[in-house]
Amino acid sequence: MASTPEFQQTLAKPASFSGTALHTGEKVTLKLQAAPVDHGIKFKRKDLQDEPTIDAKIENLKTVERATTIGEGSVRVHTVEHVLAALWAMGVDNAVVEMDANEPPIGDGSAQGYVDLVRQAGVTAQDEPRKFFDVRETVYVESKTGTLLILLPDDKFRISCTQAGPNNRFAQFLSMEVTPAGFEREIAPARTFVYYEDVKPLMDKNLIKGGSLENAIVVRGEAVLSKEPLRFADEFVRHKILDIIGDLALVGRRIRGHVVAVKPSHATNAQLARSITREQTRRSAVAAPRTIPSGDGGLDTDQVMQILPHRFPFLMVDRIISFETETKCVGVKTVTINEPFFQGHFPGHPVMPGVMQVEAMAQVASILLFKLAKTSSRIGYFMSADEVKFRKPVLPGDTIFIHAELTKSRGERLAKAKCHCVVNDAIVSEAELMFTFLDK
Ligand SMILES: [Zn+2]
Repeated sequence: MASTPEFQQTLAKPASFSGTALHTGEKVTLKLQAAPVDHGIKFKRKDLQDEPTIDAKIENLKTVERATTIGEGSVRVHTVEHVLAALWAMGVDNAVVEMDANEPPIGDGSAQGYVDLVRQAGVTAQDEPRKFFDVRETVYVESKTGTLLILLPDDKFRISCTQAGPNNRFAQFLSMEVTPAGFEREIAPARTFVYYEDVKPLMDKNLIKGGSLENAIVVRGEAVLSKEPLRFADEFVRHKILDIIGDLALVGRRIRGHVVAVKPSHATNAQLARSITREQTRRSAVAAPRTIPSGDGGLDTDQVMQILPHRFPFLMVDRIISFETETKCVGVKTVTINEPFFQGHFPGHPVMPGVMQVEAMAQVASILLFKLAKTSSRIGYFMSADEVKFRKPVLPGDTIFIHAELTKSRGERLAKAKCHCVVNDAIVSEAELMFTFLDK
């Protein structure tokens, strides 16, 4: 493990450039802006009403065909992997990527343009340590098409990658530690490559209006077609490494581990990012307090009831045990056989209904919202519950730790929270909740 703390970084000043969007062929301007600690990287659509932002997080991944698309609600940003790779590998943890279209400028199909932009903006240290994901056990994902990704423990972030085209033509291998200097020199200039048979149908359907030999290398049989000669004899595997870095940036933590990739694709990169995030969530849950403090830093039952209008039998949180930040807290609920719902759910076989756990998560999230808004004159209504999973039954005698984190609040009226319930160090349920507020 690194002994000196590494600090989060952002951009020293804004920087922008314009170019062509790959899929629509339209002109787009991209501007990098600084962002505060723990902000992560977010994309901002300047061309849309209210200028919505999208977190560059694996939870927001939408599609992985040919490029990586993220989105929230109906808002999308396509082909985010090259700009993410450049920001992440150049050491930028927090940034806003503003765009006036749904896709960054494709440039020459490499990450060179974005690296130049980061250099132009400059990188500056912030006063919070970086968050890491230390690989403790081997993680692997594979696909039916012969892709295999293995993540091994390592004290650095390393990638060893092999890539091979049809009939194993252009088989290449490269292994490296990912550092800002190494990325800039060895990886950033490597351009996107496509197989003619893959892009022909897209060209015919006019789906890649901005595509040309200016921004991609086209492989047709044994022939390599490109505007300029290959920049590296093994340019293809280098670009594969670029894509892995960009896709794994969606984890939002610095990975200390060794990625061994065989014929990687955006789909499997995303699967690996998901596995890492799931493991991180599990670890955070296990790290939750096991004793139940009262007093300082939390809220007792009285204080909870001053905020929440809910009463017996529908108050699903006994106490708030701690606020980690303004947007994150943990509540606790002791489940006893006297809960009214056990009478009917089910006679002789008491199991806490999953919907009651969702209600508990909603109530803890509401407490966060009221604390933030500093008023209890409004009441939060559920709009949606996504990604709801019930993993284990909750039984009489269990103590539920209810974790809630506000991930987004849009103006005064909308908020989103990521929640999970933990019993005996295991996640029993999880959900992403969306609320709207109305005056009482
Ligand atoms: Zn790429």
